[in-house]
Amino acid sequence: MYEFAVTPVITQLRRPGVTITEVTPDSLGEELELQPNDRIVKVNGRSVRDYLDFRFQTAGETELTFNVRKPSGETVEIEFDRDEGEDFGLMFEQIVPRQCANECLFCFCKGNPADARPSLFVRDEDIRLSFLYGNYTTLSSITDDEMNRIIEQRLSPQYVSVHATDLKTRAYLLGVDESRANIFDKFQRLLDNDIEIHAQVVLCPGINDGKQLEKTLRDLASHYPKVVSTAVVPVALTRYNTDERLTRVTPEFCVRTIREVEKLQKEFRQTLGTTFAFLGDEIYLKGGVEIPSRRHYGNYPQIEDGVGMVRSFLNAFEKLLNACRKASDRGVAVQIARQFLRNSRTRPEARVPARVEVAETLPIDRPRAKKLNGTILTGEMFGPILGEQIAEYNRLTGSKLRVLSVPNTYFGGDVSVAGLLTGKDYLAVADQIKGEFAVIPKHTIKSDEPILLDGMTFDELKSKFPVPIYDLDTNGLIEFLACQ
Ligand code: SF4
Repeated sequence: MYEFAVTPVITQLRRPGVTITEVTPDSLGEELELQPNDRIVKVNGRSVRDYLDFRFQTAGETELTFNVRKPSGETVEIEFDRDEGEDFGLMFEQIVPRQCANECLFCFCKGNPADARPSLFVRDEDIRLSFLYGNYTTLSSITDDEMNRIIEQRLSPQYVSVHATDLKTRAYLLGVDESRANIFDKFQRLLDNDIEIHAQVVLCPGINDGKQLEKTLRDLASHYPKVVSTAVVPVALTRYNTDERLTRVTPEFCVRTIREVEKLQKEFRQTLGTTFAFLGDEIYLKGGVEIPSRRHYGNYPQIEDGVGMVRSFLNAFEKLLNACRKASDRGVAVQIARQFLRNSRTRPEARVPARVEVAETLPIDRPRAKKLNGTILTGEMFGPILGEQIAEYNRLTGSKLRVLSVPNTYFGGDVSVAGLLTGKDYLAVADQIKGEFAVIPKHTIKSDEPILLDGMTFDELKSKFPVPIYDLDTNGLIEFLACQ
């Protein structure tokens, strides 16, 4: 039996099998007459607990037997062969996360307004979601069964919130006793079994910064390359976090941390060949320090944790601006060409230079850049950076785009990232929208349901906005702005 330390959703977790939600037309699944709401409970005689089990137990298998429980309660056995690597064409229910047994000082759940939607209070700590989506676990409440599963099913990499390698400090931050906070054996066991780990430190001024942080980073770096990277992100306190043991992150604190960690990063680059310890973007933005170069981030190992996102965006946007500059140059060339062509008609002796001959081949009536007129909404942290880029874009294309930095009134406190903006925050600035459309960050809308963090539906927000709204992620925004 697979055990969980804390299982408030245990009835769902222990329901045997995994439910099919979609069967692709003309797929193997359809050929097998599988249907949505069927539950696959066994594969080749082995129990299936979730999608990951299904994936693990079918991997590389060409002769298969499924035990399928139909919605009627009947169980059928299906024996079949498939070609190597042939897709089943099946979609499955989402994994219901198991919850942690910690009481972290800075837990985001403590920073929610009391009336926030229930899903914001889910304290997930799930090795499956860590493997699939990069969610962090503390390993503190992971059972032996889960540890065995990571190793048996090669659920690598795992993302682990370490916070501090000093046991007392870690226990203090996690709000648990030292025996629970001590993950040394589990950590080592994962490394011994070649499970890669990406670590995280949530940096709390006065608790795990300074010398504590240096010790933590050095300890973790000693396990490189199995510990692949460490992200250091600042604690973000909403106005509801009133725990006096926590201190807010200030610009001075950020600058000091950058200077301290820079020395270690330099050392790690020399000894390990990688920066290894990456500071979250917020630390640079809040400290007013320039974001490091592309080289600093390597292959952006912790970008999902807000580490390197700004650099990645700036580099992608620079490519967009270069394309616009080329388009703009073509526009200038066309204007020169038109002028020379006009001159050559009025003065037959005028010589048309080679550059103009090139320009003449361009489809000169086609628009070279979109002239857009709208408002892009983002968080206060990213607003100034985006604003600079958009100003250059406007200059090159003749667009009239504005960037509106939206204060986060819902969570308040230090929260200024775009991802935590809510419907109410957008509505509070609706009267400042100019132009024909508005763009909001896509990730402020739930990925599987059109709803915002404060429970407002996207449709409701649209109905209350003066112009159409596009929800775009940074890649989507760049595509939207792309010059022709
Ligand atoms: S492990 Fe995560 S969810 Fe659990 S208490 Fe700590 S911060 Fe909250």
